[in-house]
Amino acid sequence: MSDRFLEFSQTAFGKQLSGLLGLPSPPRLRRATGAYADQPLAGRTVMVGTAPTATLAGPMVGALGGTGAELFVAPDHAGLAPLKAAAHEQGLVLKGEPSGESFSPNALVFDASGIDSAAGLRTLYDFMQPRVSRLSAHGRVIVMTRALGPTGSVGERTAAAALGGFVRSLGKEIGRKGSTVNLVVVADGGESNLAGVLRFFLSEHSAFVAGQVLEVGASQLVAKAYSGQLAGKLALVTGAARGIGASIAQTLAREGAQVIGMDRPQEEGALGETMSRIGGRGLALDVTASDAGDRILSECGPLDVLVHNAGVTRDKMLRNMAPHLWDMVLDINLGSIMRINERLMGDGFKSGARVVCISSIGGIAGNPGQTNYGATKAGIIGYVDALAPEFAKRGGAINAVAPGFIETQMTAAMPLMNREVGRRLNSLSQGGLPIDIAEAVTFFASSLSAGVNGQTLRVCGQNFVGA
Ligand code: NAP
Repeated sequence: MSDRFLEFSQTAFGKQLSGLLGLPSPPRLRRATGAYADQPLAGRTVMVGTAPTATLAGPMVGALGGTGAELFVAPDHAGLAPLKAAAHEQGLVLKGEPSGESFSPNALVFDASGIDSAAGLRTLYDFMQPRVSRLSAHGRVIVMTRALGPTGSVGERTAAAALGGFVRSLGKEIGRKGSTVNLVVVADGGESNLAGVLRFFLSEHSAFVAGQVLEVGASQLVAKAYSGQLAGKLALVTGAARGIGASIAQTLAREGAQVIGMDRPQEEGALGETMSRIGGRGLALDVTASDAGDRILSECGPLDVLVHNAGVTRDKMLRNMAPHLWDMVLDINLGSIMRINERLMGDGFKSGARVVCISSIGGIAGNPGQTNYGATKAGIIGYVDALAPEFAKRGGAINAVAPGFIETQMTAAMPLMNREVGRRLNSLSQGGLPIDIAEAVTFFASSLSAGVNGQTLRVCGQNFVGA
């Protein structure tokens, strides 16, 4: 379903009227139009900075070095020395920030690791404040820090929490220009996995991801090339006949995967059409079938990628919810995922397999009338967290994507006012598109996200609900 207000507000008259009435003027987001390039930031400018105490200058500069971006530093920057040393060591060029107001970088990236006091946070302000109004439209801001275990000092843990508040607040300031800000937390060993994570967050592949925190740690495999990530990989997507699932199937195929789309036998026609468009294969099978895992294995063979996307809502206030509505939603959205994975854990996943489950912000914020749906989508968050160590042992990963309001048949069926509120209540003032979820799933399905495991990434334009 199209967002008529967004279309209208892009016209000259619409812009004027929105301004007069004080209505939000949602930016038309700039989304990726094709597969990942090896240098997705070619032609872009990135300002980098570090706190004087920071320890990620080397990995940060190294990760950005291969993206094709031109890197700039402020000549009077307090953290200049470690940045220059890192660039020198890696044979990279850091240019001096041009003086004057006309320099409008596409991204600001700041390493805030090592900050351990309220006063120390001033370096974050000093870097961001003079530049944020010059950030280009559709710009990107990344703040980075180290993961702190319980051994982190009180000052470090306080400052790390402060970074989250900074990111969430800044996201609400810059969203109206289609810009986003996210926080990347680097755990031990995650330094060598920063390149893939930064390619996702700094490129147009993450247009609807705002105000989020993602942790990256060590992994058995480290990504070396970034284009054709999924070439030769076998991927299965459930609920692929339409909506988000169809877009996921198409985006995985775009990156080179051989895709099998699975949907209920009733959807065989629609599934066949979607699969023939992307050169994939259809599997007419209900996820709740007791032999679903066996059938997947016998008809597809061991998988490299499995995306559990099929999901339904059957909304009723708990007081009116009949047991069959509870059972149906619990089984499709959660029980079937657990059963299928359990079956495939033996011989149904190739080594290094990656599983992605679709959660929802409804599982984080909760919605009246969705006790069944909310329970399943929150259950998924716990499930990927619990299974992550098992997947790590096999060199793979299991993560979840939690969509916010996405323009699909599911949300088109909402009452008009609920739909309009759902769309506008986020930093980007609009609903996401299925491709936004598909891009995040593709990130998790590929080694771009090496070192990211057991996490749930919200793709919601920084929805104000459940933030
Ligand atoms: P959708 O348009 O309703 O598509 C879901 C697909 O899954 C349909 O083709 C559906 O087939 C299929 N499916 C349902 N039950 C199945 C079963 N038992 N076995 C196999 N396939 C089955 O939904 P969507 O909006 O794309 O949502 C996809 C996922 O994103 C869901 O998990 C949903 O909870 C989640 N999500 C969506 C939003 C949003 O704003 N749209 C927000 C948060 C989370 P039928 O048509 O035959 O039922």
